[in-house]
Parts: sequence; structure tokens; C-alpha cells
Amino acid sequence: MGMKSDIKLIDDNGLRIDGRLPNQLRPIKMKVGVLQRADGSAYIEWGGNRIMAAVYGPREAYPKHVQEPDKAIVRARYSMAAFSVDERKRPGPDRRSIELGKVISEALESVIFVEKYPRTSIDVYIEVLQADAGTRVAGITVAALALADAGIPMRDLIVGCAAGKVDGVVVLDLNKEEDNYGEADVPMAILPRTKEIALLQMDGDMTYEELKAAMDMTFEATQSIHKMQIEALKRKYMEVE
Ligand code: ADP
Repeated sequence: MGMKSDIKLIDDNGLRIDGRLPNQLRPIKMKVGVLQRADGSAYIEWGGNRIMAAVYGPREAYPKHVQEPDKAIVRARYSMAAFSVDERKRPGPDRRSIELGKVISEALESVIFVEKYPRTSIDVYIEVLQADAGTRVAGITVAALALADAGIPMRDLIVGCAAGKVDGVVVLDLNKEEDNYGEADVPMAILPRTKEIALLQMDGDMTYEELKAAMDMTFEATQSIHKMQIEALKRKYMEVE
């Protein structure tokens, strides 16, 4: 983000390097129920991102001292495969993954009826197999499907999406080049029914007006991503075995 470069991110026709309009999402595909041994699972392809989510729980929280007497704890682990990025990523948790696990846990906890399951944990594993920017918001979107697949009661589904600014233009859903060389990135997670904000981060600089435009774009996009989530859930549960 904010790295100076001569790369032109918006062409003379106002199109982006991958041919998209400023408010256009990358292609998204979702599938629910892809793993046999998890309580719930889902897979998402979002632009160049490929992410698997698996959920276990609610189950007795272990070690015991982490148990909360009046609610479940939500533990999301975000991890990137060594082969998920251009230069091999050193395997194992780093500062970034730990931070992302924490913010994703908090966002997911805000939609789960955690008070129904005291002393338990709900563990969410987000495995990034291929990364192309926007993995935290795609991770939240696919985790919501895995939670629903596990039958965990939620106030709403939760949908992630980012917007930002490249070459002075407010754009939706930044890809890797835009993330690297653009001016700002604003990942958000929204509860689509109530339009509550469960996550809002900002990297880079924008004016208030630009931020507002970015948020409006994200709100609109999360409504259509939410429809895709519902369709993916229906496909699983209307499937003839
Ligand atoms: P997000 O994926 O949520 O946008 P970042 O803004 O931190 O999170 O990362 C943007 C992109 O940068 C990632 O999606 C990935 O493509 C790339 N990236 C992140 N960490 C690494 C890493 N350790 N090595 C190489 N590329 C990385």
C-alpha cells in the first residue's frame, strides 16, 4: 500500500488493470460442505483468492482456563499456505496471521449467539491456499458459510468486502497490484440484514468523502455477496445425495 510506482492502475477509459469498472467485484464462487471431518466447512474462490474454512464446535473449551462461564469463545485461526503467495511464505504463524485471526474472531463473535453455549469453544480454521489481496474479507465470508453449515445459530450471516483508492479513484475489491501500489484499502465486514459494521480497518489515506464513497460501494457489494452465500447454502441443502 502506498508504494510509489509508475504503474498505471486506471486506464484512459476508466478501467482497472484487470478490466473491471471501479465498482465491480472480481468473480466469486462458493461451495458449502466440502470437508467430511469438520462440523461445518466451505470453500471460496474470489478473484485469485482460494480459501477453505472449517468449523469445529461448539465443544468443551480446552484448556479449561480459557472457558467463559456465560458464553462460548470464538477462536478463528488464519493461516496462509507456503505456496499461497509469489515468494514462498515461511510456514507457521507470523504477526500478521495472529492479528488477522484476532480481528476475524471478533467479527465472527459479533454474529454468533455465543451466550447459548457457555464453557465451549467454536474453532474456525481459515486456510488461505492462494492469496491475491482481500483474503481477510474473503476469509470472513467463507467462515460465515462454514458456521452456518455447522448449524451454529447466528443473528445474521456476515459478509466481508474491501474498497479503496487507486490512482485517485475509489474502487471496490482491490486485487494484489492495486493493494500494493494503490493509495488506500478499507476492508469491512457487514451484517447484511441490519447493515451493522462488524469490522472496519483502513490502510493508507483517503478523504472523508472518499471513505464514505468506499463504504457505500462496500455496503452495496455485500448485499450481492450475501445473495451468493444464500445460493451456496441452498445448493448444499437442496442437493440430492
Ligand atoms: P488481505 O489479504 O486481507 O488484503 P493484506 O493487505 O495484509 O491482507 O495482504 C494483501 C495481500 O498481500 C495478500 O492477500 C497476499 O496476496 C499478499 N501477502 C500477504 N502476506 C504476504 C507474505 N507474507 N508474503 C507474500 N505475500 C503476502
